[in-house]
Amino acid sequence: MIITETKPLTEIIDSLKKYRAIFLVGCGECATSCKTGGTDEVAAMKALLEKEGKTVTGSCIPGAPCTAAQVKAEFAKNMKSLREAEAVLVLACGLGVQSVKENNRLNHPAIPACNTICGAVIDSKGDFWERCSLCGECVLADTGGICPVTLCAKGLLNGPCGGMNKGKCEVDKDKDCAWVLIYRELEQRKDAAALQSIRAPRDHQKALKPHHKTLTHGTASV
Ligand code: SF4
Ligand code: SF4
Repeated sequence: MIITETKPLTEIIDSLKKYRAIFLVGCGECATSCKTGGTDEVAAMKALLEKEGKTVTGSCIPGAPCTAAQVKAEFAKNMKSLREAEAVLVLACGLGVQSVKENNRLNHPAIPACNTICGAVIDSKGDFWERCSLCGECVLADTGGICPVTLCAKGLLNGPCGGMNKGKCEVDKDKDCAWVLIYRELEQRKDAAALQSIRAPRDHQKALKPHHKTLTHGTASV
């Protein structure tokens, strides 16, 4: 899940200051779950923009605006409203904004209504927790399913730093040290001895951006 939060209205209005007629794009997946780009939020944004003197020419909510085919299908259905617009305001993550830009043959400016925070899991209360930094070299098999790249403030791969104190992180004393969590998890599985092997440094080439992969016969390949 990509976590987003709605930008302050003043920032959105400032981004739209050159445009009077706006088309809105929401997101049926992550931004709906984050309550930043679902049906209610698109309707609320329409009302806010109209109060600010803008004309909202139309809106759509692709299932996943980060997917070209879904954006194109929704834009084809809304071509008249799109033609009347001067800009598209996207209530989705940065992926959605850029996908809308790249798949809009009318070439409107695509303006973000949200800030994109991170990838995260969502618990049963609806709270999100960042758990993966998309590092390209997953170590969860060796760390009891707990990610040190994300949960350790220093991203350490071979156990705790010298600042760990009573199980807490020296960078944030309210947080458990990731490596203490990993040790406890592996100890419970009677596998703590696995931590004695030294992990080689990460290959940061694998985290070089931007990534691009081609899908071949359903399998991602570089
Ligand atoms: S090690 Fe952590 S950051 Fe890297 S892929 Fe696995 S969960 Fe994600
Ligand atoms: S105390 Fe633990 S979580 Fe904090 S930086 Fe050191 S090793 Fe990482």
